[in-house]
Parts: sequence; structure tokens; C-alpha cells
Amino acid sequence: MAQETLMGDEAIAYAAVHAGLSGAFAYPGTPSTEIMETLQELAAKIPQDSPNRFVAQWCTNEKTAYESALGASFAGRRAMVSMKHVGLNVAMDPFVNSGLVNINGGLVVVVADDPGMHSSQDEQDSRLLADFARIPCFEPATQQEAYDMTYEAFDYSEKHHCPVLIRITTRLAHSRSIVDIRDQKSQNLIKKPEGMDWILMPAVARRRWKEVIARQSMLSEESNAVKWNLLSKGSKALGVITTGLALQYYKENLADYRAAKGSDPMHLHIGFFPMPTELIRSLYETCDEILVIEDGYPYVEHLLRGIVPGKPVHGKEDGTIPYDGELNADIVRKALGLLENKGLMVKNISLVGRPPQLCQGCPHADSYTALKEALKGYMLYAVTSDIGCYTLGALPPYSAIETTVDMGASVGMARGAAEVGLEPVVAVIGDSTFYHSGLTNLLDAVSHKTNMKVLILDNSTTGMTGAQPTILPSSQLEPILKGCGIDPAHIRILRAHKMDNEKNVAVIKEELAYRGPSVIVMVRECLEALKKARKA
Ligand code: SF4
Repeated sequence: MAQETLMGDEAIAYAAVHAGLSGAFAYPGTPSTEIMETLQELAAKIPQDSPNRFVAQWCTNEKTAYESALGASFAGRRAMVSMKHVGLNVAMDPFVNSGLVNINGGLVVVVADDPGMHSSQDEQDSRLLADFARIPCFEPATQQEAYDMTYEAFDYSEKHHCPVLIRITTRLAHSRSIVDIRDQKSQNLIKKPEGMDWILMPAVARRRWKEVIARQSMLSEESNAVKWNLLSKGSKALGVITTGLALQYYKENLADYRAAKGSDPMHLHIGFFPMPTELIRSLYETCDEILVIEDGYPYVEHLLRGIVPGKPVHGKEDGTIPYDGELNADIVRKALGLLENKGLMVKNISLVGRPPQLCQGCPHADSYTALKEALKGYMLYAVTSDIGCYTLGALPPYSAIETTVDMGASVGMARGAAEVGLEPVVAVIGDSTFYHSGLTNLLDAVSHKTNMKVLILDNSTTGMTGAQPTILPSSQLEPILKGCGIDPAHIRILRAHKMDNEKNVAVIKEELAYRGPSVIVMVRECLEALKKARKA
């Protein structure tokens, strides 16, 4: 068996290829981006005439990526779709309904959660969404498990005819370890499913839902026996439940716990959901107290605690472990009742704050300068914004935007605010985010002739996640805007550069005075994308 030193994201990409992947689809989002980047690197090394060639494509958004993967599965091929946790919200419709179809080629859904919000707007835990959709979920504790679980997830998906979710978190996605890797399997031949199990009209869906409920009972049974869920003997005084990466933080403190208390706690590690109810019951009935250690929501803890008081259950809900933020070994140490590990503490160093900033010379800075100047003189106005590097326009010295909620919301929120009388309203959105989710809101604005302006910051890339290509080139933006129904006289294309500031301010002012939907496109390439292109 060969070995590689891999990040969690890379391990998942390698495993998918080795398991016979035919098609992978994604939208960039930290911390999941490197999965597709690795797949594209691996795909580029495969000769054109090789039967091992596979597709690895960026898509317009997570929903389109999911549906592409679903189509590949329908064709009988193995498919993977990857995204960050909030991306799963965008893909929820196909995600939930794919739980009801009779999955054909293995379908693996990788979702990277971000506890601690290193690069996200919330901390949501995708294990709950897998449960909601009645889709089994693997939660790896190491890069090796990320590889092994992904590799096996395709078989599991085909065995049970359901999608399988792999839930990872930032720390696992972006840290490295040595991983044993396997040989590459052949890809499935194309073979469409028979029957009507993919047609979710009510009569079929009702039958399929009963089958999904029955499958869920079977998966719960299996969960008690899978190798990923392990119950180990130990002291009855304390039972510890860990899930996924939390196992590492627990293990890091175990020798000290043993030295302090004289024995190990009884321990259940869960790496596969639905819950292994028998294993949990066995631990609960044996131990006097339970401590649940999990990164993300108190998912296991909440179910275990229930409503009726029982044995003491400690975790996030009773404050033993902080409810918010990322888990770490020091937090787990404290939860286990061990003394603080003072030797590792660094104190009395006052570090200078380093808030995130736009790159020096970023075109967004020039766009914000022009926008702010154009808005001078208005007593009341609103600038809604979106998710991308330009979100940093919220901070000084720009302080130019007032909202950031979800992908595409800048345009929808601007529309709503304008419709109820706020004037002028400007939505600021990047080109990639506009294609992702802004476009449909713009159709609403055209349909209702909403008095709002959209400022598309077109830097020809998805800058924030490392300069992945935008789904369509800049040259296609103007025809799309015309096709949406924006009056061509109010599609204004400008160069986002300080040398053009005077002209840009004048044009933005003209559009602010216009009472209808208009779009101003500020064009200049992202500096990071330029650097990347020069290196290639
Ligand atoms: S990566 Fe590109 S878009 Fe982002 S701040 Fe830097 S130059 Fe601007």
C-alpha cells in the first residue's frame, strides 16, 4: 500500500478517485475548496485515452453541483459533490429529495463544517441535516479515516441505494497526516435504473418514504455493529462519548486522566450516524455520569439528555464545554476535570490586532471609493452586500456596506428595501456570487420594475476562496443582463480603477437618479487571480 501526506480535503479527493469516481461537482467554499482543486490536479494527470478519466467541475452553485452529481448517479456512475456547510442550505432541495430516490451509482456528499466560524457566517452542524434528510453520515476522526470512509461510502451508497454524507470540519480539512492509499478501481459502466423510483410524484414518493423509514431502522441497527462506532471498557464512574475529530482531543488528554483518576473512562466513539442506539444505551446504563465531546452542535448530547431528567449528562448544554466556537484539547481537558496544562500557556504577550483587509491595489477598494463618493449628499440610503472579498468593505477605511447574510441576498434584500420605500438602494455583489444566486433576484427586480441599483464587482474570479474561475467569463455578463430584461441604457460597464474615479462617480450618480432597476459592472481582475495565472 502506498502512502501520501495529505490534508483531509486531499484525502477525500484521492479516496474518491481510487473508489472509481466518474464525476465530481462543487462550488468553492472554505474549508471544502481543496477537494475540487485536488480532484482537478489528479484529473489533469490522467491521459486523454485512459478509462480512468473522470470529470471534475466547478458549478454555478451548490444546488446545480448537487443535481449534476445526482444525474451522474442516475447514469449508474459514481459521483461526488462537495461544499461548505452553508452551501448545503443552497442544495437542500435536491439533498433532501435525493434521500427518496433509489440511488444508482454511488453518490457521496462531502460537507465541510466550520465550527468557530473561521471563514463562515454561522456554525451549523451538517450531521443534523443528514438526520433530517434520513441520509447516513460518516464523521472521520483523522485524515486516514477521511480517506477510508470516503472510499467505502461509495460501496455503502450503492448497497443501500441512498446518498451518503461525509461531514468534516475545518481542522481536519486543512491539517495533514500520512495516509495509506489504495489502488484505483475501475469506474462503473453506464447503466440506468429501471422502474419509477426516480419519479417523485406523490404516489411514488409516498411508497419511497415508507421504504426510507424502513431503511433508517436498518441503518440504525447496522450502526451498532460498524467498525467506526466503538465501545471500549473503562471505569463506570464516567462514560465519555466522542464523535469525529473530538476523539483526537480526548486521546490527547487520556494519559493524564489515567494518571489522575487511576483508570480510563468507559468510552464510545461514534464515526457513523444514524446513532448507534444500543451502544449508547449500554454506556448510559453502565456509567454514573456521561460526558459528550463533539465539535459542532450538541447533537448526540441533546438526544441523550432528552426531556425527562435521568443520569447527569455533561457537555455543551450544561456549560461543561462552551456551546460556541471550535473544540480543542484544552477545552476537553477542563471538561474531563484535569488541571490546566500550564506548561503550554503563553501569557502576557500583547499581540497587535490584524483585522482582515483587501489586498493592496484590490479593484474593490476603487469601486467602494467611487460608490461612497456618489452617495455623498443622500441623507438616507442603503448598501446591501454579499459574500466575497468585498465583504471586507464593511470595515474601515471603507465602511461602505451594511449587510451580509447569504449568497445572493444583497440583490434580494435591496429589492425588498426598495419595494417598501427606501431610496436609493444599492446591492454590491461579486461576479461569481451574482451567477451563484444574485441572478434570480435580479429577475424579480426586472419583473416588478424595482427602483434599485446592482453594483457587480467583476474581478473575473472567485477571489475569496483562492481564485477559482467564475462559471462564465466577463464577456458574457452584459448579454446575460440584457437577456434578463435590464434596459441596455442602464447597464453601465466601468473600469474599477482609481484613475477612472471621476468618471465612475458621475456614472453611479446618474444611475442613482434613475428610477428603475439598473446594473453597474465594475471590471478589473483580482490581483491574486492574475498572480495565479502568471504562475500557471
Ligand atoms: S484576493 Fe483579489 S478580490 Fe480578494 S482582496 Fe485580493 S485582490 Fe481583492
